[in-house]
Amino acid sequence: MNEKAETRSRPDSEVMVEIVDLHKWFGEFHVLKGINLKVHKQERIVICGPSGSGKSTLIRCINRLEEHQKGRIVVDGIELTNNVKNIEKIRSEVGMVFQHFNLFPHLTVLENLTLGPIWVRKVPRKEAEETALYYLEKVHIAEQAHKYPGQLSGGQQQRVAIARSLCMSPKVMLFDEPTSALDPEMIKEVLDAMIELAQEGMTMIVVTHEMGFARSVAHRVLFMDGGQVVEENTPEEFFNNPRHERTKLFLSQIL
Ligand code: ADP
Ligand code: MG
Repeated sequence: MNEKAETRSRPDSEVMVEIVDLHKWFGEFHVLKGINLKVHKQERIVICGPSGSGKSTLIRCINRLEEHQKGRIVVDGIELTNNVKNIEKIRSEVGMVFQHFNLFPHLTVLENLTLGPIWVRKVPRKEAEETALYYLEKVHIAEQAHKYPGQLSGGQQQRVAIARSLCMSPKVMLFDEPTSALDPEMIKEVLDAMIELAQEGMTMIVVTHEMGFARSVAHRVLFMDGGQVVEENTPEEFFNNPRHERTKLFLSQIL
């Protein structure tokens, strides 16, 4: 992307995800301590921070892989409560890509991609396969459609996982350290697929320590520590002028 970080302003669009004073406990352990976050449509947020700071828990709360105990999460105008209908609606709009790709090993790439659309969305097989091939093309991997995940490299598997999410037509994509389990030479191909997605206007919340990605794609970078958002800024300011000591220490360790 040749767009410069300092000229990239937050899209002036509707709010896609709103998180208000979110708290979560694991038993006695207070893991999220009052998170506030508003993500506009087409906005791209990068979340970074030390291990154990609550990044995964936060994004897992957004599609209810974890339940929060206090505060509000609203996705595309739908509030995440115990209402099963709302949970289903939100899950149908939120795509998620994990560190470990979670593909079904006994299904081909194409079958991995068409499973959800056919069985959950009731899309006819032929149409589901056409859509799957379209997204496999997009992540430059259509020639692998009939292979099994175990026959692919980690980078290819992660691109399949991205394509699989896209087949469900998500309105927002969550990524939880999508490149951290990959060998260095495969990181770029996955980041490139994510950059293309960003260029097409996908709303994205990405937990990553790939600071080059953050600089070139994010509208805002959030730094979490101890279950709180300690600092939030444009990539330019975040990297050039970190304000908090904890942010400075973190950046000095990873850059
Ligand atoms: P991060 O993704 O920033 O590394 P996590 O959200 O995975 O952090 O974890 C935040 C804290 O919550 C860590 O101390 C972790 O050990 C704890 N934690 C995560 N999942 C659970 C769980 N299911 N039960 C109890 N503690 C958990
Ligand atoms: Mg994590």
